[in-house]
Amino acid sequence: MPALRQRLKLALFRKGTTVHPYLPPLRHLMLPVLLLSTFAISGPWFGRLLSPWDTTLTLLPPLLTLLLLLLAGYFNSSRALLGTLLLALLYAAPPTLPAAATLPLFACNLALISLYRERGTLNRWGLLRLAVILIQAALVWAGAQHLPDLVALAAFHPTWLPAYMPPLPVVASLCLCSIWLLVLTVQRQQRVEASLLATLVIGAWLQLASLPGLERQILLVLGLGLWTLALLGHGHGLAYHDELTGLPGRRALNDALLRQGRRYAVAMLDVDHFKRFNDRYGHEVGDQVLKLVASKLARVRAGKAYRYGGEEFSILFSGRDSQGALEALEQVRVDIEQARLQLRSPERPRSTRQGKTQRGKSNSGNKQVAVTISIGVSDSHSDNPIGAADKALYRAKRQGRNRVCR
Ligand code: GH3
Ligand code: MG
Ligand code: MG
Repeated sequence: MPALRQRLKLALFRKGTTVHPYLPPLRHLMLPVLLLSTFAISGPWFGRLLSPWDTTLTLLPPLLTLLLLLLAGYFNSSRALLGTLLLALLYAAPPTLPAAATLPLFACNLALISLYRERGTLNRWGLLRLAVILIQAALVWAGAQHLPDLVALAAFHPTWLPAYMPPLPVVASLCLCSIWLLVLTVQRQQRVEASLLATLVIGAWLQLASLPGLERQILLVLGLGLWTLALLGHGHGLAYHDELTGLPGRRALNDALLRQGRRYAVAMLDVDHFKRFNDRYGHEVGDQVLKLVASKLARVRAGKAYRYGGEEFSILFSGRDSQGALEALEQVRVDIEQARLQLRSPERPRSTRQGKTQRGKSNSGNKQVAVTISIGVSDSHSDNPIGAADKALYRAKRQGRNRVCR
């Protein structure tokens, strides 16, 4: 039980989770909600519109599924691969299989995928997870044929549950798993969790609503399309975002510079004596500090922060000159100077229970560390704004660090 509790805690508060302070936490759900509500309103109309191509369209789901599985394998995203596979298996389940036999397992598997750490596809872990899902599918199929009592148990419908509702295990698993996935979508703010939640809704829709064949196909294609977008978004994120801090990276800065108008200011920021800091506290603590610095930079509303590389960051101020950026830069410099990172004492017990029993017996306490940054800022009218900001940064370093230079 403690292991499970630890796993759930890790899932909710995973290190490296980047919460963007000014972006809506449910933004990754906007597209699924839009597409699914469009389908709810105009699904039958689309069905009639596409009916002349009925036979050709039957080829689409298997082809798209295959393509998406290959794409997920290529992107090394086992969670996208398993989510797609689950949806495709549910879609292909024989109509004789009742929802009670499939949906609870489908929902629980999606919730489990959200707990998996991404370990890629073509390795021991990826193949094992794949095998577990395929074995479950085979067992459900065989169980429904040979163990009708088991299916009847899964179809338990207490008298207090309104007759129009699905069986209790279905309702309970759908509610619990969707709440879990919704919480994770808000907590982690990443596409995968939103896609898992959308897959859960689509799966329930496919199983519980008696849709005509073509509408079922459209709904499946919507689900596969959402996973494709999630994968492409993931690829884009890898190319344009820094994984450690969650800030956009150097490539994104270069693109943004190309899009700037005539007037902008760019600042280069560098953590002071960071090599010494790393040597003293270790790279892991160094990484935590970089995340702390990045979180402060992400809060600068006047400009947009980027991780330039290593312990160097940039902030781009569109439509401002360097004079106009000074106040925000001075503020962020002070914010970082005053921020403290709590270090775990090496004597600190690993489990909470151990911690409770030891509390008050040791006075070793936790140590706090802090860093400062130097900042150089330049205007767009210099020939090479980044180079000029870099020169200003080195002036700040020469003048004693922890300051802003223009
Ligand atoms: P200065 O005040 O002159 O900037 O001194 P400095 O020690 O910060 O300068 P220098 O550029 O020599 O050192 C940068 C160090 O930043 C070297 C490397 O150990 C550390 N560093 C770069 N990227 C990372 C990272 O992603 N994580 C950690 N932990 N350290 C990093
Ligand atoms: Mg440096
Ligand atoms: Mg430095």
